[in-house]
Amino acid sequence: MNVYSWQEAPSDAQFAVIGDPIDHSLSPQMHNAAFAALNLPYRYVAIQVPTGEVKAALSKLAESNYRGVNVTVPHKEEAIGWCMHVDGFVQEVRSVNTIDLRRHSGINTDADGFLESLIGRVGADSRSALMIGAGGSARALARALVRDGWELRIQNRTPEKAAELASAVGAKAVTEVDPTGADLIVNTTSAWLQGDSLAVPWEKAKPGALAYDLAYGAEPTPFLKEAAAHNLSTIDGLPMLIEQGALALEWWLGVSAPRDAMRAAIDGR
Ligand code: NDP
Repeated sequence: MNVYSWQEAPSDAQFAVIGDPIDHSLSPQMHNAAFAALNLPYRYVAIQVPTGEVKAALSKLAESNYRGVNVTVPHKEEAIGWCMHVDGFVQEVRSVNTIDLRRHSGINTDADGFLESLIGRVGADSRSALMIGAGGSARALARALVRDGWELRIQNRTPEKAAELASAVGAKAVTEVDPTGADLIVNTTSAWLQGDSLAVPWEKAKPGALAYDLAYGAEPTPFLKEAAAHNLSTIDGLPMLIEQGALALEWWLGVSAPRDAMRAAIDGR
């Protein structure tokens, strides 16, 4: 995949994902497939933006007549500073992932994409969740889960951050990764990217619980492999990626997103 610097963003594209690193992103494939399925003459590209240059990059893209941008790691907080309008949820979780450049406006579709991806995968009476991690995506997901009625425990490598997030959203901070009693065990950490293991005592997990890893790749992550070996249901980050992208496209363009075409474009990546 071509990755552009923001100073050299192609003039024939209208949409982009910005991040650092960005070469792993599946968003260009997914959104270009959506535009093709909708017969829209748009192009979506990946743009590398170093930390500290997000405002300059967004201004340059707006001047170059780009319409919309997705924001990924590590810029979801920095990008808020460029927006003139963000909704209450973005302010609360300090995380924006979708920007309309013409309106200088930003929303967060990660949380709704995540909740949507749970439908049909957890039982209606499932209400207890353990979240591992307290970073940017955890902030959005924790708030969304508590609002959705889940009793949430949060564990994080840096315990102070788990305590701070738990207190902000009405969850409980825990020091041990203990899946006992949880219907849903969500890994929001980037431990795997760094080759680290989370050492979950899976033998304590409830039969039928769902293990959810926000990460995705060609192979299941060690977190999901271990959970599957203990007969748990598993889901990786792809369904959430598709849904957050579909919601972003619908917000930009006001049309229904072709989810099947988006899924087909990145399945078996
Ligand atoms: P952040 O950098 O904001 O947070 C990272 C979290 O991981 C922190 O809680 C950090 O703990 C923890 N962590 C990092 N390294 C380790 C380690 N070696 N051991 C244990 N914990 C560790 O990242 P994001 O929240 O933005 O993203 C997290 C993951 O979610 C990434 O893999 C990202 O790709 C994925 N993601 C997927 C999406 C999708 O659509 N599927 C959407 C958004 C994110 P500490 O506080 O101690 O530093």
